[in-house]
Amino acid sequence: MTRDAAPRPIVFAFNPAGAETARRTAATVSGETAGLAGRVADLDGVFEDAAGAVAEAFRAGRPIFGVCAAGILIRLIAPLLRDKHAEPPVLAVSDDGAAVVPLLGGLAGADALARKVAAALCGAAAITGAGARRFGLVLENPPQGYVLVNPQDAKRVTSDLLAGARARIEGEAPWLRASDLPQGDDGAVLLRVTAEDVPAPRDGLLFHPRVLVAAFDRPDMATLEAFDAALARLALAPAALGAALAPEGAPLHHLFAEALAARGVPLRIVEQRLEDGETIHAEPGLHIHRFSAPVAPEGFGRAPGRVTVVGLGPGPRGWLTPDAAAALDRASDLVGYEPYLAMAPERAGQRRHGSDNRVEVERAQAALTLAAQGREVAVVSSGDAGVFGMAAAVMEALEAAPAGWPSVAVEVTPGVSAMQAAAARLGAPLGHDFATISLSDYLKPWEIIAQRLAAAAEGDFVIALYNPASKTRREQLVRALDILRARRAPETLVALARSVGRTGEGFTLTTLGDLDPDLVDMRTLVLIGSSKTRAFARADGKTWIYTPRSYLEDEAS
Ligand code: SAH
Repeated sequence: MTRDAAPRPIVFAFNPAGAETARRTAATVSGETAGLAGRVADLDGVFEDAAGAVAEAFRAGRPIFGVCAAGILIRLIAPLLRDKHAEPPVLAVSDDGAAVVPLLGGLAGADALARKVAAALCGAAAITGAGARRFGLVLENPPQGYVLVNPQDAKRVTSDLLAGARARIEGEAPWLRASDLPQGDDGAVLLRVTAEDVPAPRDGLLFHPRVLVAAFDRPDMATLEAFDAALARLALAPAALGAALAPEGAPLHHLFAEALAARGVPLRIVEQRLEDGETIHAEPGLHIHRFSAPVAPEGFGRAPGRVTVVGLGPGPRGWLTPDAAAALDRASDLVGYEPYLAMAPERAGQRRHGSDNRVEVERAQAALTLAAQGREVAVVSSGDAGVFGMAAAVMEALEAAPAGWPSVAVEVTPGVSAMQAAAARLGAPLGHDFATISLSDYLKPWEIIAQRLAAAAEGDFVIALYNPASKTRREQLVRALDILRARRAPETLVALARSVGRTGEGFTLTTLGDLDPDLVDMRTLVLIGSSKTRAFARADGKTWIYTPRSYLEDEAS
């Protein structure tokens, strides 16, 4: 699933003196700004925990600017370093804007970003990469519209050029010709730019320009195979495809959409047949057009639109998965229950559509309809969206209208559910078989709840009770306790986990016999142990609870 637009840069400001530089940097790279809480005001967002905020952006692959001393940024990034091919650009900018230092992400375009920002701030880019310094470009990182076919050879080629070899440039390559590369018609290094499907040169690099646009009147796998066959006959490279067009309203086959995503080809929805470019192939359902220069996909129609169902995790940002954070960040629109929307990180320019908690399916339909207009929509739930959350509501809306929202892609990202967070704080109460039951009888008759409680109790499962009680709904928990107490020993361990990961977090360890329902509210998760669940205290005084992994010792003893 890589249909994502490039992640947006984020500019962190650590002191008021750097706020203006942060704003100008962000404006130059279409990014957002964030200021250290209590110190820098009036930016797009705030952060309290610099390490956490930088780590989140880094994992989401966002280009990171720190308006601060390089040392500060280096220390924040150091624990995150692993793979240089998976690094986003990381740049330090002095608070007066005079110095822009690309620290990491040379292969992801850090040097070019440094030059661009330095030019806008009238400062200097402190480029240290030898290739980037000497030639004014990084061969691994061609401009938008070009793909490097053999990146594994780029390092060697760059070394050869640094050692004095000259480059023989073939094809339309304005960025190569305008660079400071040593060039010559008899150069030993071949840099070839062509849409033709030729092998990469042994002594050089091959780039494909994305000059082709394919209009798929029938957006399905058969037509994609026809496209590949047509390209093979034309001896053109599949990677030269810059955009795939599908007509408004046509049913997009998911395999087709996924295959394009895997190829990194943007899909665009168009209202009219494409007239531009030279038509190099036409058959029923498929037209291929060739342009004289790489195409900008945004120039064709609109994006297909997508709904991503996102679980925010139960509390702190660290419990938001990097995937979920990236989905929230790329979203143009957030849809969800008002209090949950308030928990999602702020982002300038994003529209938020809050609603009452009780209209989940309507909310899902509204999200799909927004996405059908080409918007990038995130539907948010707390915890894991698939556990008593919005994912099921989105599925319901989709199943009820099989032909609805034909171009909209749907994704569900996993999250951390409240029971996992509570279990982690307590030790390992879910260490063996467990059951999860919601006590809300808003969409489920009480008889079913009662039956499941009885069955889980008889099965000696650990039981996690969600939605145990609210201000007005107090009866269910009392009745649930009756059912459990009739089937399980009064010494059975019970943990009440309230507002885990949030302000007001608190735990109560008790037993089934002693449990006081008045201690339980809507923000509480009730964990009922199995007959094996145990508690112990360490010398530091802290009590842990867990459910052992093995039942075998019992049998042996
Ligand atoms: N999708 C959510 C659950 C939503 S149902 C998830 O996966 O966590 C709402 C119930 O979840 C609440 O009534 C409470 O029982 C539980 N819950 C959600 N967040 C919680 C938290 N931070 N601490 C304790 N319980 C929580």
